[in-house]
Amino acid sequence: MKKGLLIVLSGPSGVGKGTMYSRLLKIMPELTVSVSATTRKPRDGEINGVHYYFMNKEKFVCMRENGEFLEWAETVGNYYGTPKAPVLSKLSEGKDVLLEIDVKGARQIKAAYPDCVTIFVLPPSESELARRLRGRGTETDEQVKARLALAVSEIGESGEFDHRVVNADLDTAVAEVTDIIRKAKGE
Ligand code: 5GP
Repeated sequence: MKKGLLIVLSGPSGVGKGTMYSRLLKIMPELTVSVSATTRKPRDGEINGVHYYFMNKEKFVCMRENGEFLEWAETVGNYYGTPKAPVLSKLSEGKDVLLEIDVKGARQIKAAYPDCVTIFVLPPSESELARRLRGRGTETDEQVKARLALAVSEIGESGEFDHRVVNADLDTAVAEVTDIIRKAKGE
């Protein structure tokens, strides 16, 4: 059976990846999403096993040492990782799998799975990103500053990605991502 396509979606926090992601799944419901593990505390409305597998550092480190992650990274003080087994089994069943991970994780995935498609979502501008991050109201001022600094460095590294999509208008950005995925699948 033909293996599924591994799709990596990255971009600075606040760029609107979450919204793009849900919109994309409405258009392409056949995509399987990977649920990451994280040591970050859940935000309001986030459900364990749906948005993330929330866990403490001990559990995360234990899984990491057992080789249970496809990739992992430390971002703004927390660990994040992609559980390996579910992704590999879906791919071997021929299902396409979508990972929403940071630049460090995307780099690891590209090195291990060169056939994957990597997409970086860019904000229309740095000031718009700052506005969106502050408007979200889920992080403290310090956390917003840390996320912005990280965003600037991630944007600087985005040339490594196969594709870059600017999220100025949600519908246009999602249409571009859909097109990239369909082309990668030869549709
Ligand atoms: P947030 O805390 O806003 O949910 O996510 C922070 C950052 O962690 C985002 O850039 C997100 O893409 C990234 N992230 C989420 N899950 C993973 C993962 O499994 N691996 C890696 N490397 N990054 C992740």
